[in-house]
Amino acid sequence: MCSAVIMKRNNIELLAPAGNMASFYAAIENGADAVYLGGKEFSARASAQNFTLEEMARAVSYAHVRGKKVYVTLNILLSDEECKRAVEYAADLYRTGIDGVILQDIGVADLLAHYLPDFERHGSTQMSIMDLEGARYIEDMGFSRVVVGREITVDEIRRIYENTTMEIEAFCHGALCVSISGQCEMSSFIGGRSGNRGSCAQPCRKRYAIEGEKGNNLLERGYLLSPRDLRTIDSVEELADAGVYSFKLEGRMKSPEYVAAVTRNYDLALGGKKYDQDEMAQMFNRSYTKGLGFGEFGHEFVSTKRPNHRGLVIGRVDEKGKIRWNTAPDSGDLLEWTVKGETERETYDGNISLTPDKGTDIVRLTSALLESRLKVNPEDVMGTEGLRGTFIARVGERPIFRLEGSRKSEVVGEDVLEKARSAKLNEERIRTNLSKFDTSAYRLEDIELDVDEDVFLPISLVNALRREALSKYEAGEERSLEPIEFYERFEKLKTNKTLLTVEIADEEMLQDLPYDLIDRLELYFLPSREAMDFLSTLSVPVYLSLPYETPEGYAEVKDYFDGVVVQNLGQIAGAEGDIVFGEGMNIFNSYSFRHFAEKGSVMPSFECKREQLQGMTRRFGTCGEVLYYGYPRSLTMRHCPMSLIKGCGKDRNCPTCNLRRGFYLRDEKNVAFPFRRVGDMTEIYNSLPIYLGDKGDQLMALKPAALKIRSRIGEDITDIIKEARRLIDGEKINEPVLKEFTRGHWMRGILG
Ligand code: SF4
Repeated sequence: MCSAVIMKRNNIELLAPAGNMASFYAAIENGADAVYLGGKEFSARASAQNFTLEEMARAVSYAHVRGKKVYVTLNILLSDEECKRAVEYAADLYRTGIDGVILQDIGVADLLAHYLPDFERHGSTQMSIMDLEGARYIEDMGFSRVVVGREITVDEIRRIYENTTMEIEAFCHGALCVSISGQCEMSSFIGGRSGNRGSCAQPCRKRYAIEGEKGNNLLERGYLLSPRDLRTIDSVEELADAGVYSFKLEGRMKSPEYVAAVTRNYDLALGGKKYDQDEMAQMFNRSYTKGLGFGEFGHEFVSTKRPNHRGLVIGRVDEKGKIRWNTAPDSGDLLEWTVKGETERETYDGNISLTPDKGTDIVRLTSALLESRLKVNPEDVMGTEGLRGTFIARVGERPIFRLEGSRKSEVVGEDVLEKARSAKLNEERIRTNLSKFDTSAYRLEDIELDVDEDVFLPISLVNALRREALSKYEAGEERSLEPIEFYERFEKLKTNKTLLTVEIADEEMLQDLPYDLIDRLELYFLPSREAMDFLSTLSVPVYLSLPYETPEGYAEVKDYFDGVVVQNLGQIAGAEGDIVFGEGMNIFNSYSFRHFAEKGSVMPSFECKREQLQGMTRRFGTCGEVLYYGYPRSLTMRHCPMSLIKGCGKDRNCPTCNLRRGFYLRDEKNVAFPFRRVGDMTEIYNSLPIYLGDKGDQLMALKPAALKIRSRIGEDITDIIKEARRLIDGEKINEPVLKEFTRGHWMRGILG
């Protein structure tokens, strides 16, 4: 490790995860500069144990005494009803002394900027920010930090560093989402469990086969979407030089021992010291990748064979059946080997009861010795702060108990003390009870008593004063904040007749559309010169519908379009003409609706249910633009499943590749998901299209700004366009044109 990182160590933050108090102590005790954790509400790891406010207060106190920080994740999308509660909750976090909140929802970010302007806000990786323009957008909103998308390149990190004043936080180690964070609805479309609500069911860790158009099998079933785990420990210097301030470790669902080991080794690496390779290899991992940001792709990025922990090879069974150990196992180690071709596991107790296959490896999944070495016993580390106490109890005065350590607290009893009529407390008993802290985070080292001999002092009063003084001491960082008076103010938008908009994915479809029925045409591709000439002869406004990544060449032709549909924050700055904020913006409540409606037309998230859209109509006079028909993108990712067949990597040339479209991922329940390459991203679509033709009355009651029809390549959508036109013109749809479809989240939604 070169000295650059060592020199910068003071300007770098090692940010570790904690799913519970044990992991929190493990992180701090192993070198973390800051810890991020989730509360019991509004956290993107709903199934982690998570923290109560009291635990957070304890964590803040423990961290601040040691010069460390605590951030809380509030990084999910919230409904209108939840937004008010989220502000109150954030106010509680602020009072508790939490150093910052990590946010996904733009509406919540606006609310916190208004109600809690001094509370540090970090833009979660769920905001899908992967470029300077996206970072600038949230910088202008008052965010102090951007957690960049996991696909971001080192060069783009440098651009953000050189052109903003924001702190840059980057994931450096641990499990990866295959999707652009915040752009995955696969889990919610399949079973209602949404990644945008912290409840992802991880369909990407399941097995899929690849099929062609005719159902022909092209790649056997395997873990085709399951990324290896990220590991950048050998590149921390490069990341620091590019401008990464906060090195984030993943693992709020992992064990305290995992947190301890990974934090410890990254701390060593960031300090320019040698880290322990074997220890890192022994910790949970799905085998490692340096990640897409460093250009690893295809087989380097996913591991198709297994989606879980690899362990460390510590021995091999030779051809005679004898086990040759590289490292002898210890009692309690969990070992894995192959018996008659099947994987078997056994906790080692000095013997191996099964006969592993000849010529196979013996893998140690967990090391009992290492786990016990890494165990951080809260009892051992917590009692590190010794306090001094002063207790005053005089007849005719109110009792006082003071605590003094790295800070101070003082409590005064409510009533004056009276003379004792019978036996009074002895000093030893007072001392004992004042020392009985119900947390071992502190210990009373010294106590000074100033107690009148004849004072009447119930032991319950001594205990109450002790509890109150300690809780005040723990909350020493507590900030004062007036109660928040939450109010709503929404202005109705000017509403016109509902538009019929049609998005096409292929230039060849241009000739066949019934333009007299269409109010706006959206192109999901950059048109050729001939196509532009043809479109100029029409009176229909033409918008460019941007994919998640803006195509090269957009800047040269953007003047041509009447407007643009954007899908992420970074695309707003370069947009020309009218703007439609597409479903990728994750507009899930009236506050984020309001944020974007000030700048253009809004398409709420496809994860909204009808009641949520009704709420928007009540407030704004319209629910914005709605997908009437189309296959929703359920997952957008840099990874390309076809690269596992073609074997391409950095050398890929997707625009000319004959594997870029026309294929399906078939899951183990026999459901097929179409996917295709768009630019340098792959889009996986839902197995069925969303269609609301049979709910026409309900739909029009929402006063949608537009009904959108999105076609697939080569699809004939004329009948659907005609039907939607009739609906907009006031006709009732008695016989919907489609029979096989889904209404998406229209009825059920994703809210629990
Ligand atoms: S579309 Fe073709 S070239 Fe591009 S990543 Fe996929 S297989 Fe490789």
